Amino acid sequence: MKIRSLSFKLILSYALIIILTFSLLGIFLYRDLKRNYLKDLTNSLTNQALLIEAQISPLSVGKKDIQSLNNLVKDLSAKINLRATLIDRDGVVLADSEKSSQEVLIMDNHANRPEIRFALGGAVGNEIRYSDTLKMDMLYVAVPLSRNDDIIGSVRLAIPLTGVQKMFAEIKGILVLSIPFSLSLSFILSTFFALKIIKPVNKIISVARKYSLGNFSHRVYHEANDEIGELALTLNKMAKDIEEKVSAIKDQSQQLTAVFNSMIEGVIVTSKAGVVVSINQAIEKVFDVKKQDVEGRHFLEAIRNNEISGIIDLTLKEGSQITKEIILVFPVQRIFEVNATPIFSDNSVNGALVVIHDITEIRRLETVRRDFVANVSHELKTPLTSIKGFVETLLEGALEDKENNRNFLKIIQTHADRLDTLVNDLLSLSKLESEGIEIRKSVFDLHSQVNEVLKGFKSRLKDKEVKVENLLPEELKVNADEDRVFQVLLNLVDNAIKFNKEKGFIKVYSEFKGDNLKVTIEDSGCGIPPKDMPRIFERFYRVDKARSRELGGTGLGLSIVKHIIELHSGSVGVESTEGLGSKFWFTLPK
Ligand code: ADP
Repeated sequence: MKIRSLSFKLILSYALIIILTFSLLGIFLYRDLKRNYLKDLTNSLTNQALLIEAQISPLSVGKKDIQSLNNLVKDLSAKINLRATLIDRDGVVLADSEKSSQEVLIMDNHANRPEIRFALGGAVGNEIRYSDTLKMDMLYVAVPLSRNDDIIGSVRLAIPLTGVQKMFAEIKGILVLSIPFSLSLSFILSTFFALKIIKPVNKIISVARKYSLGNFSHRVYHEANDEIGELALTLNKMAKDIEEKVSAIKDQSQQLTAVFNSMIEGVIVTSKAGVVVSINQAIEKVFDVKKQDVEGRHFLEAIRNNEISGIIDLTLKEGSQITKEIILVFPVQRIFEVNATPIFSDNSVNGALVVIHDITEIRRLETVRRDFVANVSHELKTPLTSIKGFVETLLEGALEDKENNRNFLKIIQTHADRLDTLVNDLLSLSKLESEGIEIRKSVFDLHSQVNEVLKGFKSRLKDKEVKVENLLPEELKVNADEDRVFQVLLNLVDNAIKFNKEKGFIKVYSEFKGDNLKVTIEDSGCGIPPKDMPRIFERFYRVDKARSRELGGTGLGLSIVKHIIELHSGSVGVESTEGLGSKFWFTLPK
């Protein structure tokens, strides 16, 4: 629409300029031509009148010899083909080329004719006037007729202007006719030039439209070294700059999105009305929601967590950072630290940034550490209290008691052994847990190693009448840390004997599972209640503390087993039926 109006404006302005120029030129030309033509004609008439004046004899004028004067005037007039009139100084017509001598006598006095007035005053007079006699416009030129400095009359020449007027009417006609012609020519030319100007403008508009749609890869091609060329260059430079900036912003935004989504912490951005603007993948996982379902909705409506919603509301209201620990029960039970920070814009709160940090593991580790310290203290305190008690008893006189003193010393020894075992287990465990621990792998025969372990338990097996079967294939070669695998078997077989019934059995067997060798130590002992099974490998975890302690256990054996196997990139597990027995297994990669 605008383009059309611009070309229309151009065409109109071109046409107006051309018409105006033509008209003004025509008017001035016409007027000047007419004026000059009449001036030349007047001059020519003046000169001819002066020539006639020279021919007139003052004597005949003085005598008013009408007949001869009229003949002379007629003669001269015929030569120059102009009407000539001779007038005396009173304005009386003495001769006229167009009249007979009789007619001259009855002609009006000419003293009042303007040209005659001038001539009788000594100047050259001229006038254009409608002649009643000839019924047409005439140019009259009169010169004084003077002799010896006296003005005795006037010679007047007259020419009809019909020819002149016809010629000028024709010129006028040509000029008027040229208007529509010049108008159409100007229209054609101006359309041509307007389109020539509009064409590159149209190109620029079409490219600019693409820019407005966000497509900055197009360029305007206009070679001309004019303003439009300059505009095209500027536009191209602008598009290039914007393209580069947009691409940099895109890269930045992609990086930010990548960071945002790969963050372990959950992030929620809300508006000042509490509407969710953005969430990251961590939030999707924790609350089991989809980004597209949540964004654009109010937090409470989308995620339905009153506690976090309360924190967001408070942050938005008070404009201060709030940190709070919350426990999430659904969809998974976890502990989170929620950190809400207000987002400011022009000194007022415009939204909130909420970062949710899963601290379940930190809290669990804290509990584990606290429990561990409590457990170690407790485990150490029991034998120490006993030792202290018996030493005091001995010192208070029991030393002299020949019957019991040895007994007391044996009890002290038992507790000292317990302390020793406990400290040794704690040392092994701390070593296994320390960073950078190395395992020294070598290839050895597991079958023989199991036999070796069992040999050490010979008397205890015999006492309890427990039957043992080493069902491992002969020459079962494994590549592992021999000493540590020995420790694993020792702990597992020890438990299998400790918690077995009298006349029970123990079986050690193996199978290949994929890339792993799975070794199982099965016993016919008391088994483990299902509720305790998940925690059995934790430090100091015992199903029956008193019984374990009575049997000389520290509660660290299975924990040591787990650590050693995990150092070998294997895994441990247990299957058990309470009252029937347990199957403890571990795997070692081939
Ligand atoms: P402990 O020194 O008490 O044996 P462990 O870490 O070796 O410590 O074992 C932890 C607990 O697991 C034991 O106290 C016991 O309750 C249970 N347990 C371990 N092995 C067996 C088994 N073979 N049969 C039944 N219970 C077992």
